[in-house]
Amino acid sequence: MIRKAQFVVSNTTPEKCPKPDRAEIAFIGRSNVGKSSLINMLTGVKELAKTSQKPGKTQLINHFMIDDRWFLVDLPGYGFAKVSKDKKVKWEKMISTYLTTRQNLCGVFVLIDSRLEPQKIDLEFLNWCGEENVPFVVVFTKADKQSKTQTDKNVKAFLDKMAEIFGDYPDYFVTSAEKGAGKEEMLTFISDLIAE
Ligand code: GDP
Repeated sequence: MIRKAQFVVSNTTPEKCPKPDRAEIAFIGRSNVGKSSLINMLTGVKELAKTSQKPGKTQLINHFMIDDRWFLVDLPGYGFAKVSKDKKVKWEKMISTYLTTRQNLCGVFVLIDSRLEPQKIDLEFLNWCGEENVPFVVVFTKADKQSKTQTDKNVKAFLDKMAEIFGDYPDYFVTSAEKGAGKEEMLTFISDLIAE
């Protein structure tokens, strides 16, 4: 269980992130995937991460301090339909620099909407993470939105695609921010990660 979650700082440049003096875990995914809801569910703080950010907003790297022990990082989402080329390039530079240089980063949760068939943009991002040795884990969101059979089917389709690309299945969680599903499993996984 998380006892304390505090906002620390928002940045547009990885160089300005807090001193890397403790373990760090980041969350990323397409806009509207349910990232803010998942972060709020995990921390038990209702409005810690702001839900449904609009595409026009500045894209920030948000640091939160958890239990005085580790940093939780809310990264700006990708895949806004109406974002300019210039903004996309800026996002890519910021995210790739952050993910490849942050020394204390021990895990990146990449969120995938469990309602959808495998999406090219997600697979491309995960492929890039693999190439760059970014330590990622896949988190399927919104599992309560459809039947368990449908969720299982979509999860399997996505994992099979990943196995095709990587030759292996990734670690993954199936979650619902609405129902709290996957919370304990993710928190246990996180506590093992930060203890390493
Ligand atoms: P973000 O843009 O990735 O931060 O996504 P949000 O957390 O703002 O969620 C986008 C929308 O999906 C909101 O309307 C949420 O209420 C909804 N949502 C997020 N997670 C879940 C979930 O687990 N179940 C259901 N039913 N809705 C969810």
